[in-house]
Amino acid sequence: AKQSATNYVNQVFETVKKRNPNEDEFLQAVSEIFHSLVPVFEKKAVYMEHNILERIVEPDRAISFRVPWVDDDGVIQVNRGYRIQFNNTIGPYKGGVRFHPSVNLSIVKFLGFEQIFKNSLTGLPIGGGKGGADFDPKGKSDVEIMRFCQSFMSELFKHIGPDKDVPAGDIGVGSREVGYLFGQYKKMRGQYEAGVLTGKGLNYGGSLARKEATGFGAVYFVKEMLQDQQDNFENKTVVVSGSGNVATYAMEKAKELGAKVVACSDSDGYIYDKNGINIDTVKQIKQVEEKRIKEYVNQHQDAEFISNSSAIWDIACDIALPCATQNELDKDAAKRLVENGVQAVGEGANMPCTADAIETFMNHGILFAPGKAANAGGVAVSALEMSQNSLRLSWDFKEVDDQLQKIMANIYKRCVNAATEYGHAGNLVMGANIAGFEKVADAMVEQGV
Ligand code: GLU
Repeated sequence: AKQSATNYVNQVFETVKKRNPNEDEFLQAVSEIFHSLVPVFEKKAVYMEHNILERIVEPDRAISFRVPWVDDDGVIQVNRGYRIQFNNTIGPYKGGVRFHPSVNLSIVKFLGFEQIFKNSLTGLPIGGGKGGADFDPKGKSDVEIMRFCQSFMSELFKHIGPDKDVPAGDIGVGSREVGYLFGQYKKMRGQYEAGVLTGKGLNYGGSLARKEATGFGAVYFVKEMLQDQQDNFENKTVVVSGSGNVATYAMEKAKELGAKVVACSDSDGYIYDKNGINIDTVKQIKQVEEKRIKEYVNQHQDAEFISNSSAIWDIACDIALPCATQNELDKDAAKRLVENGVQAVGEGANMPCTADAIETFMNHGILFAPGKAANAGGVAVSALEMSQNSLRLSWDFKEVDDQLQKIMANIYKRCVNAATEYGHAGNLVMGANIAGFEKVADAMVEQGV
């Protein structure tokens, strides 16, 4: 008997809830995507016949492993490592590794699930995966970081490879960690496989513009969105949460396009500089000295530090770019942004806005760029890094940045078109989910069960 699309989606969601109890973040990500896909199943019954939804929501495999390491006091520590190989229908599993005390199965699964659709949206041949560990890099010595990375890779190397699964960085994992991970992979594997990791150092196969790619890409995406309204970044007041890799380069590009970035943050609180944030100072503090963002006020007299990260959304701004972490912007924060006249919100982080925050923005006609589209620039340039590694050559900065801009403009178009095609013009959340899904779903049908 023919089933209605709504029934099908609801029924699969019940199964997902039963199979994944207590995985709030994963269910949050799944629920948003399922909701977006109802009109797709209404139009294309073939996806229901192939039970694509129940198949796509179950990872190919979820690996969890012990990561023992010895700290500087000689004490043996144990962390838990993960790699979720979610879907490799359109290419090898691809996605970052996150080192943060909050990492658990639910979080790596939500990230891995979103990665399938994000990677599909880039138009490049990469599947979805994600990994991490509940390791806290804060306050660890360089040697402790190295020992941890080596132990992590001593298990992970069995499961990855340039044509199999290609990890990269995420929160807590930058080029230093990728370097240690790569060194250990090479030792365990006994072969030089440059394309096994991305976000590598420039001396051994890394790509120019990879470091900047996620932040730049998010701003390129918002630029496209503004352009559709005959608008741009010039003289806009911008608030960016976070002060890591994504936030820093989002601020840099927004400023380059004529905006005034007045605030950024870390988990201790936010800094507000009415003269505009000095990005060199932020880089010096976070990248060179590895200190906390509150140090900023020691160098800029007019700036203030407020020891409450989520209060950053109290600041009146035209454009808000949440670039810190999941669920950092809730309904109350969304309401305050709307009251203060926000015009556009672009997610640089993965799922930084809660479901009801997004709903608040939508209900008020705020331009909203979902993370899986807006922050896809990082993984897109990772795929370009893989291409360069396969070619055994490297492109210059401009070449990569030009490709990134084209990719972001394309992603934007695909989101807009999919939303319009399914009767939800302007809803980029639905557009991103639908466009990302359809390519993978069609390939799954083509490849059989
Ligand atoms: N961690 C980034 C993301 O969330 C980048 C992943 C990658 O480059 O593979 O998309």
